[in-house]
Amino acid sequence: MSAADPLLLSDSKDVQDRFSQMIRETLSAVFNSYSDDSAFSGIDPYELRQKIGDLGFLPQKGKGFEEVLKETERTILPHMLRTWSTKYMPHLHSPVLTETICSELIIACFNDSMDSWDQGPAATELEESMVRGLNGLFGFPEEGSDGCFTSGGSQSNISAIIAARDWYCMNRFNWDVKMNGLPPEYTRMRVYTSEISHFSMDKASHILGMGYRAVRKIPVDSRCRIDLRAFERMLEEDVAAGLFPYCAVATFGTTDFGSIDDAEGMRELCDRYGMHLHADAAYGSGLIMSQQYKDRIKSISLCDSITVDFHKMFLLPISCSAILMKDGERLKCFELHADYLNREEDEEDGYINLVGKSMQTTRRFDALKVFMAFQTRGIDGYGRIIDTAVGNASYFYQRIASDPAFIAPVEPELSSVVFALASGDEVNKKVRRALLSEGTVIGQTVMDGRVMLKFTLLNPNLGHERIDSIVARIKELGSQF
Ligand SMILES: *Cc1c(COP(=O)(O)O)cnc(C)c1O
Repeated sequence: MSAADPLLLSDSKDVQDRFSQMIRETLSAVFNSYSDDSAFSGIDPYELRQKIGDLGFLPQKGKGFEEVLKETERTILPHMLRTWSTKYMPHLHSPVLTETICSELIIACFNDSMDSWDQGPAATELEESMVRGLNGLFGFPEEGSDGCFTSGGSQSNISAIIAARDWYCMNRFNWDVKMNGLPPEYTRMRVYTSEISHFSMDKASHILGMGYRAVRKIPVDSRCRIDLRAFERMLEEDVAAGLFPYCAVATFGTTDFGSIDDAEGMRELCDRYGMHLHADAAYGSGLIMSQQYKDRIKSISLCDSITVDFHKMFLLPISCSAILMKDGERLKCFELHADYLNREEDEEDGYINLVGKSMQTTRRFDALKVFMAFQTRGIDGYGRIIDTAVGNASYFYQRIASDPAFIAPVEPELSSVVFALASGDEVNKKVRRALLSEGTVIGQTVMDGRVMLKFTLLNPNLGHERIDSIVARIKELGSQF
C-alpha cells in the first residue's frame, strides 16, 4: 500500500477506505499469529526477552504502519496470551465477548472522555443510565443511589473505602476529611475483612494513610467464609480497646476459592457498630445474571456499596469495573469544582460532569461495553455463560473429589477450584510449569502452607471432555516427577 498512513480519522472517503484496510490487515495479523487451540506458545522467558529487546525503541524515521504491523505480527503476537483458549484457566482473567471487541474499536475511534459532559455527551448520559440500571439490578434503589465506572476492582474497592472513611469521620467525629485530612483518631480506625480477601484492601489502607495495621483480618471457616463469631468477638475487643471500626468488607467470591461471605450476618454487626459495609463482588457479581445461582449472592443488596468487575465473569475487555453506592451522598467524597471543567452553573442546566464521582479525571467510556454486551446477550444469554462456568467448576470438583490422586478441600460456590495432586508441593509446581510449556495455563496458590493448583473457569466454550483431558494429563505428568 503506497498511500501515506492517515494521521487521524476524518470525513474523507480516502481516509476511511485506508483505515478500513488497516483494520482488516490488523485482524489478519491477529489470526495469523496462532494456528492451534493452545493458550500460549510456551516460549522461554529469556528467549522472549531477547526477541522483544531486539525490536528497538524509537527510530529516527517512522517505518509506516504496514512494516510495523508485520514486525508486531512476527515477534509480539505469537507470544501473547490467547485468553479465548479453553486451555487457559489460571486467573480471573477472561476471554472477551466478540461484540465488546467492536465496542473497544468504537471507544478508541471517538476517544470520548468521561470527566465532563462536553468531552462525551452520549458517553456521559449512557454511563449514568447504566449506573442506574446496575443499581437496580443489584437491588439498590435507583433513586438516591449512585455509582461510577472505574479502572478495576482495586480502584472500586479503594473508592468504597474512601467513601466509608469520610462518611464515618463526619458521622462519628463531626470531622470533614476532605478539608482537614485525617482526624486525630485515625491511628485507631479499623477496617475488617476476611484473612483471604483481596490484597487491594491492604493497599487501600496504606494509600489512605492508615497502613496495613488498620486492616483487621477475620478468620474463615472450613468453607472459606468469614467466621461471624470471630468477627463479633474481634469487634467487641477492639471497641473495648478504644479502636474505631469504620468499615467491613464482605467478599462475594474470594479470588482463590470463590467463597461468599455471609453479608446478612455482617450487616447486623455493622449496624450495631455504625459501620459501612462494602461488598467486594469483583468476582462473584456475575452470578446476578444466572437464574440458577443468583440466590447465592442475594444478600449483596444489604451492603452499602458494591465493587463489580466486568472484566472477570462478565467477559468484557480490560478494563471495566464499577463502584455502586446505595446512598449516593457517600460518593460525594470525590466531588470538587474546577473552573475549567465542571462549573456549577452548567450542572444546574443539565450538563452533568462525572469527574466529581471518580478518583480519575480523564476516563474511558467503558460503559459502552457493558451496554453492548447486555443488549446483545440479554439475561438469557448471560445466564447461560455464567451457568456453564459454575457448572464446569462443579463437574471438575466432583470428578477429582472421588479420585485418591487428588485433594480438593473446598467445594466451589463460583467457578474456581483449588486442588492438588496428593504427591506433594514439588510435584505440583513441576506439573504447572510443564503444562505452561505445552500451552496449557493453570493457576497455583497456597493453602495452609501447601502448594495448590487452581482452575479458574470462566470460558463458556469449555466442555467436559477438555476438563477430562487436562485432568488425565495432570495425572500423567504427576507420575513422571
Ligand atoms: C480481581 C479482584 C480484585 C481486583 O480487581 P482488579 O480489577 O484486578 O483491580 C479485587 N477483589 C477481588 C475479590 C478480586 O477477585
